[in-house]
Amino acid sequence: MLTILEVHKELQSGKTPAEIVEDAIERLKGSSDFNILITPMFDSALKRAKALESEPFNPTTHRLYGIPFVAKDNLAIEGTRTTAASNILDNYESPYTATAIKKLEDEGAICIAKVNMDSFGHGSSTENSDFSPTLNPHDNTKVPGGSSGGSAAAVALGIVPFAIGTDTGGSIRQPASFTGTYGLKPSYGRVSRNGAIAMGSSTDTVGVITANSQDLSLVIDVMSGLDPKDSTTIAKTEQLELSAEPNPKQFKVAIIKEFLEGGIDKEVLEQISLAITKLKESGVQIEEISIPEVQYALAAYYIIIPAEISSNLARYDGIRYGYSTAEASNLNETYEKSRMEGFNHENKRRILIGAYVLSSGYYDAYYKKAQQVRTLLKNAFDKAFDQYDALIGPVAPTTAFKVGESEDPVQMYLGDIMTVGASLIGSPASSVPIGLGQDSKMPIGLQIISAHGQDKKVLQISKLVEEAIK
Ligand code: GLN
Repeated sequence: MLTILEVHKELQSGKTPAEIVEDAIERLKGSSDFNILITPMFDSALKRAKALESEPFNPTTHRLYGIPFVAKDNLAIEGTRTTAASNILDNYESPYTATAIKKLEDEGAICIAKVNMDSFGHGSSTENSDFSPTLNPHDNTKVPGGSSGGSAAAVALGIVPFAIGTDTGGSIRQPASFTGTYGLKPSYGRVSRNGAIAMGSSTDTVGVITANSQDLSLVIDVMSGLDPKDSTTIAKTEQLELSAEPNPKQFKVAIIKEFLEGGIDKEVLEQISLAITKLKESGVQIEEISIPEVQYALAAYYIIIPAEISSNLARYDGIRYGYSTAEASNLNETYEKSRMEGFNHENKRRILIGAYVLSSGYYDAYYKKAQQVRTLLKNAFDKAFDQYDALIGPVAPTTAFKVGESEDPVQMYLGDIMTVGASLIGSPASSVPIGLGQDSKMPIGLQIISAHGQDKKVLQISKLVEEAIK
């Protein structure tokens, strides 16, 4: 994998930003077997790189000077096709640039491509892309995870030092775990959602995948802050970029007991135990905690998020955006046919579930109950955060599975059991690679979750884990 520091060293030793970008483009072109790319931005990237050359390299004002990156294709970039990997947006061009991307560009970063994902973020394998699945760089018969599978694969292959993704219920953390990369889902509101195509608005976050924790901290620092275009953003009160080595003795964390019980693969458990032992040896205090409420997080998530999806996807009506059917004799038929032809099975499944749980006869039984469970979950986690700097556990119960293996949608949903909790409570959470499974030889990630707003702690502990397992 490639780090930001390594690219900066190349720049310091005389390479131009254009040469750096050209190299990254070549690597991306050479990776076509993995199906990462949706839309190339090669011309605009080279133009940007050349324009940078008139500005001298100043690492304090341009912390990402000349750094190439890729963005998940649900992030808007002005004048560029933005599909969310869905046929319904196949021909859609963004009229403006997402705030997060703009902030990266302002510090000198250069987007070279829009990359693959589960369409609209609906999935955990990138198999729900309308443009074919992305494959896992560690084993091309397996999925890279999802929904930010293209972003994770691009970093795992060393094409770019960082990739932007979104995480609504695990879509950065789980692909990071499946590909042996570092992933951070920031606190809800830390990074503006302006220009990110909405999935579940109450848990959608924009985050990043990198080759180490230092780069996670730098990129998230650049993207974060208040944005008048997103009223849910939170003010930046501290520098998130790690500047000093964190002191292990300052941190007390707890393993979520329920995450280690039932349904988890033996090799994942073994690797997690090994990482915990090393972390303990490094000086971090580690205890165990029981949070029985986490058992209900998945059920609550798969009611609340489809409800939000059904409402967010209502805007794709064949009139306002994207695909419109060629054959319709009246307005209702335009709506029906455009949506029927433009959305895939998984999109439709979620729209139907969402409309059902919000319907007047079922609202109290499902949606309201799920929101009550969410409050219980938040209270339980808050209590735990009174005692601990972070809660840790696996990211997913398994390593990456075979392409085509998980055909049952409920089976796929079950794999999200360990990530959706942090999403429902708005907490920051990371995935840090801790080695390969004994049997599968596939990467495994450790998840680190802190209280809302404590992104810095997640980053510091991620760094401690990185150091401890070296
Ligand atoms: N896998 C989860 C889902 O399908 C999370 C997706 C996401 O975070 N975008 O909903």
